[in-house]
Amino acid sequence: MSSTLFRNVRILDCTGAPPFAGCVRVEGNRIAAVVPAPAVPAAADAMDVEGRGATLMPGLIEAHSHLTFTDVAQSVELGFIPPEEHMLKTAQNARRMLDAGFTSCFSAAAAKPRLDIVLRNAIDQGDFPGPRTLAASPEMTVAAGLGDARLYHMYRENFAVVCNGPEEFRRFARKMVREGIDTLKINVSGDAGSPASPADKTVMNDAEVDAVCSVARAHGKRVAAHARSAESVRMCLCHGVDVIYHATLLDEDARDQLEAQRDRVFVAPVLGHLYTTLNEAAPWGITREIAEQRGIAHELGQGIENMKALHKRGVRVLIGGDYGFAWNPIGTDAREIGHFVDMLGFSPMDAILAATRLGGQIMGMGERLGQILPGYLADLLLVDGDPLEDVAILQQPGRIRAVMRDGTFWKAPVNGSVET
Ligand SMILES: [Zn+2]
Repeated sequence: MSSTLFRNVRILDCTGAPPFAGCVRVEGNRIAAVVPAPAVPAAADAMDVEGRGATLMPGLIEAHSHLTFTDVAQSVELGFIPPEEHMLKTAQNARRMLDAGFTSCFSAAAAKPRLDIVLRNAIDQGDFPGPRTLAASPEMTVAAGLGDARLYHMYRENFAVVCNGPEEFRRFARKMVREGIDTLKINVSGDAGSPASPADKTVMNDAEVDAVCSVARAHGKRVAAHARSAESVRMCLCHGVDVIYHATLLDEDARDQLEAQRDRVFVAPVLGHLYTTLNEAAPWGITREIAEQRGIAHELGQGIENMKALHKRGVRVLIGGDYGFAWNPIGTDAREIGHFVDMLGFSPMDAILAATRLGGQIMGMGERLGQILPGYLADLLLVDGDPLEDVAILQQPGRIRAVMRDGTFWKAPVNGSVET
């Protein structure tokens, strides 16, 4: 069994406690010992990593990933990629996430039915490198909903699968369960990107949401929802949806209902895509003026206020930002932690916990993932500097000196040590 000893590191264990100096020993794929300085655990045959005061923290966890999104400028482009090429690009994206320090990804939908499933299996079997991955279905959407970009006079594929009525939703959900998904994804509200179904509109109905949730419950799977409008969030909570994405346009009643179910549901506002669409998408034809006309500035403002309120109420608000678009590319996901500090007023500690400890929980592995504790899985980052001083360090791959995933270095420290 391989063994690694991280000496002289500043341990940010992501339990919520302040960092402390010490050593961490890894045996196989587990953290075997966490020892505060000046003691040093026995380390016979261990690979020695001299940390020189660098920060050792859990690997980052993305709660709204789309590893099948290939940095496209328009989502309809995803439909044009043949499945074979699409699989290879997805595997490349998994490597890019590891490079960026993300060791787990909770998928918020695949762009084709089996891409997430095949990727997860290949990673789990050790055939390809990548983060721990939970596999999602494509977005199930109603005709005219987000992701239905078909033309009346011709057939064309897109990133979503169109279902109408509870029977069609149920049939597709069951097929995806058969293929091996972990999560069923539904588009309950509209979106700024779907002109016929704006963000404040609720386009799925109770029977359709209930059909998908019933299939998930019957097979022990989870449901994640694209839900921007207050009404769509209420509908999700009523039928037992597990993960609520966006939740940007809440009213007081929807905030109350989320708080009442805070021990069961997870929320991820997905700020990154709104922020970059508003401020950085002009080279792709989306000027600030166009973005404002689509209501994105308004939605971002509302989303910020709602997330501040939910955080105060103890609702679990996680990072994840729809990375995978040209102006919001895969691998820049750690910007989301900065957005939580800058936009939501999270403390750096709370923002980092939203990317680690809470990430372990959304992965369904909270008792063994997302913190540095004895017995936890050895998904670790060695970071040059103090992310609590400046969370933006985590956006600089050069500052992430080592990435360990499941006890094995994806990126090993140079010469077994960290330069200062
Ligand atoms: Zn998304």
